[in-house]
Amino acid sequence: MDACPICNGLINVSKPCPFCGGEMEERGPLQEFIDDYSPYLSRELAANITGTRDCVHLYYCSSCDHDFRVATPLWEI
Ligand SMILES: [Zn+2]
Ligand SMILES: [Zn+2]
Repeated sequence: MDACPICNGLINVSKPCPFCGGEMEERGPLQEFIDDYSPYLSRELAANITGTRDCVHLYYCSSCDHDFRVATPLWEI
């Protein structure tokens, strides 16, 4: 089955911040944040953001106080 390698802890999730180069914090899949509002809306949003079935993760840079969405392709596991 297809699964997100980050959600399943298969890969290192740290990413450099595009602005300051510092290490960003992985906050979890975007789905978790928008599911609170509406499961239907969250699917719409995820599709709009990625255009694919990728799992979108939220990363946060505490130096820049910015968050970023990073689409992670699913792996066959
Ligand atoms: Zn994920
Ligand atoms: Zn930064």
